[in-house]
Amino acid sequence: MALLKIARMGHPILSSVADPVDDPTDPAILTLIENMFDTMLDAPGVGLAAPQVHVPLRVVVYYVPEGRATEAEEGGAGVDLSALINPVLTPLDADTDMAREACLSLPGMSGLVPRFKRIGVQALDLTGKPFAREVSGYHARLLQHECDHLDGILYPMRMDDLTSFGYNEELSLRESDTDDQASVDGPEEDMTGEVGAE
Ligand code: ZN
Repeated sequence: MALLKIARMGHPILSSVADPVDDPTDPAILTLIENMFDTMLDAPGVGLAAPQVHVPLRVVVYYVPEGRATEAEEGGAGVDLSALINPVLTPLDADTDMAREACLSLPGMSGLVPRFKRIGVQALDLTGKPFAREVSGYHARLLQHECDHLDGILYPMRMDDLTSFGYNEELSLRESDTDDQASVDGPEEDMTGEVGAE
């Protein structure tokens, strides 16, 4: 087990576009993914992108906690630890919803972010095998957040209205925000409510 250092907002690697993985079967990629799983779970978070651990490659790890998955899609059972190599996301329609996101690279903060509700995902899995699927709800939001890291985009750059952005300790004083608390790659303890409109 190796825990990797997580870059915080302001570090140039978080605003850089990451490179595609040339050889997904390179053992170094599997080692990176295993270390990213360890780092994400230790943080704790539900997603982590390679640039967040100072590696400029298009690799994302995540899981969807039980109860966070949409009923229709995963039967509410969640999604096990997963890795995406060279992911490409495509919105399936123009529908968006709004929910609160946090990020391991902006510790202690959160904000309301609009995201597409339904997306197509094409990627290689951790064995280098290509796959494609459609995801929705929290799963779709999580992947949009993580894949944005591969293009140097942090969630505040996706916000329409920065008045909902701030430190959780201060925001928790505002009742109106507690209905839509949702964490993306942020700490588990922030995940106190429902993801936007499902
Ligand atoms: Zn993040």
